[in-house]
Amino acid sequence: MADMDAESVGYTEAVMDEEEPLFSNLDIFLFSLVVGLGHDTLVVHPLHYAFCFCSYFHQGKNIIVFYGSQTGTAEEFANRLSKDAQRYGMKGMAADPEEYDMGELSRLSEISNSLAIFCMATYGEGDPTDNAQDFYDWLQENDDEDLSGLNYTVFALGNKTYEHYNAMGKYVDKRLEEMGAKRIFDLGLGDDDGNLEEDFVSWREQFWPAVCEHFGVEALGDDSSIRQYELQEHTDINMNKVYTGEIGRLKSFENQKPPFDSKNPFLAPVTVNRKLNKAGERHLMHLELDITGSKIRYESGDHVAVFPTNDSTLVNKLGQVLGVDLDVVISLNNLDEESNKKHPFPCPTTYRTALTHYLDITNPPRTNVLYELAQYASDPKDQENMRKMASSSPEGKSLYQSWVLDACRNILAILEDMPSLRPPIDHLCELLPRLQARYYSIASSSKVHPNSIHICAVVVEYKTKTGRANKGVATNWLKNKLVTDNGHKSSVPMYIRKSQFRLPFKPTNPVIMIGPGTGIAPFMGFIQERGWLKQQGKEVGETVMYFGCRHKNEDYLYQEELEEAEGSGVLTQLHVAFSRDQEHKVYVQHLIKQNKENIWKLVHTDSAHIYVCGDARNMAKDVQTAFYEIAEEFGGMTRTQATEYVKKLMTKGRYSQDVWS
Ligand code: NAP
Repeated sequence: MADMDAESVGYTEAVMDEEEPLFSNLDIFLFSLVVGLGHDTLVVHPLHYAFCFCSYFHQGKNIIVFYGSQTGTAEEFANRLSKDAQRYGMKGMAADPEEYDMGELSRLSEISNSLAIFCMATYGEGDPTDNAQDFYDWLQENDDEDLSGLNYTVFALGNKTYEHYNAMGKYVDKRLEEMGAKRIFDLGLGDDDGNLEEDFVSWREQFWPAVCEHFGVEALGDDSSIRQYELQEHTDINMNKVYTGEIGRLKSFENQKPPFDSKNPFLAPVTVNRKLNKAGERHLMHLELDITGSKIRYESGDHVAVFPTNDSTLVNKLGQVLGVDLDVVISLNNLDEESNKKHPFPCPTTYRTALTHYLDITNPPRTNVLYELAQYASDPKDQENMRKMASSSPEGKSLYQSWVLDACRNILAILEDMPSLRPPIDHLCELLPRLQARYYSIASSSKVHPNSIHICAVVVEYKTKTGRANKGVATNWLKNKLVTDNGHKSSVPMYIRKSQFRLPFKPTNPVIMIGPGTGIAPFMGFIQERGWLKQQGKEVGETVMYFGCRHKNEDYLYQEELEEAEGSGVLTQLHVAFSRDQEHKVYVQHLIKQNKENIWKLVHTDSAHIYVCGDARNMAKDVQTAFYEIAEEFGGMTRTQATEYVKKLMTKGRYSQDVWS
């Protein structure tokens, strides 16, 4: 999934330098309890589980906020809710379900006034996020579980452009009720296609009074300066102990050890970085990452996640505007000593490293950041506006929408345009969300390229309403990853994310691939794989490609490769829609409609598998409509029946989408 936000990598003390004391006594106790269901390396006596949540609640906390997070947003919301709890005189903690034995959920009911909040994101085709997969399986498999007495509420994060809108949040909400738990506040639905932040803020504003009423507690005074971390400056520190951008273990980039995953990325050398388009203002690129010796395996259709770094110009400007020395070595230490998240990002480190590798400085800040920073604006008008933007008043919401979101103001633009706002950098670093890995659909087949992973992406750059040139973090960083940079090999921290986007098990099944623009990416892998199968002497079914671009002479990506595949018979049909080479638009779905009879035969008679990759908002929907129309015409169906027909293909895994919005 190209340039999508990705899962945050929760940083815990477990990956700290070995010479530091890893855990406090209480941590050791808790750590023995908080075991990932999927971490088979940790063996814990079952008795310990019994204490899991109870010990946590004995610390005086009564609210636990679980998050199912893929892009880090659900985790951010969970952190905000657990912090909110303090404002209401309660104590909360955000928790990754992967690190807890969720089988102990029922025990929460033994603690008075306890509440479990679930911030659940839906990923891909209605799937749980990676860290919620085990919890999801547990919910599905345990029909006899009795959760009566458990108080809960769910906030769902999703996107209406996708077929299975908020499927995961809805499922958790329904399933917990079925298991006897008590919903104390209605399911919240957040739509990232609209305004997720606004949905969350509105839901939260009604949620807390309901909680207070339920537990008979009253909100404390509104304290805007609750700090979660305290600053420690290191004046005399061995620089070998200082993190320089590692995601997990200290020095893990110098001393690489498999297995490689989201918490331990592999530093893959870039062996190819070329421009794909022949003309035009955009920069579309093809990169190859060398994974030799890494033991990393992938399949066509998987995603590669890369950890980008922020533009040094932006980082320097932040340092200048705040008037700070970015090379000071610091740690931000959690004030809650019992929390198993000791720091917001790997510490000790420098402000420069934090702003370069660990913090998101390019997305428009969320309203809680504005709210907490407001106190540092010396101009009362600025203070008022910032608080207003964080409120759920219609005026505040519309100001946030226009001044921050529509104007694409990142934190630097806000500081530049609000000269009275000068927060201490450590508080800013505490508040900014983590910089996320980005996912790209892999554009190669491991059968042909076992040691190399190909990426196809377009460099994101646009002008904002304030006249600033905003640049996509990852694509601009990738563009500058030259094969040799001053004699050094460029490399990219990466890992693989498995997907469901797979070629049919039987090579004889026909495939219809639809991928305009950079949506071609996974199909380059599929085409390579079908070619390889043919070479192995396998019988391979029809392989049909629908590609679309603006101009034949400009952005016909992989033209040579596609035409060669057509020439050699690997592609049995190649259809290309050039949208801007004539007066009227020609899109992939128009060509599909032109070939409707053949399409219907392939799908209905020959059991073809359909694959769609690219833009979710318009293209994927329009293509789906084209299939409805074909089913209506040739299958003699009504629209409702045609919709059902396509839905059935989807559940059977014969209509797969890898789409982004
Ligand atoms: P692109 O070059 O912008 O578009 C490819 C072709 O698709 C063009 O010929 C375009 O035509 C056509 N097209 C436009 N609307 C269509 C529709 N409703 N149905 C069928 N075809 C349509 O492609 P791209 O730059 O690779 O980007 C593809 C999409 O993915 C864009 O929406 C882009 O914003 C998005 N994208 C998202 C990410 C992400 O991570 N979120 C990353 C990369 C791309 P015209 O332009 O002439 O109308």
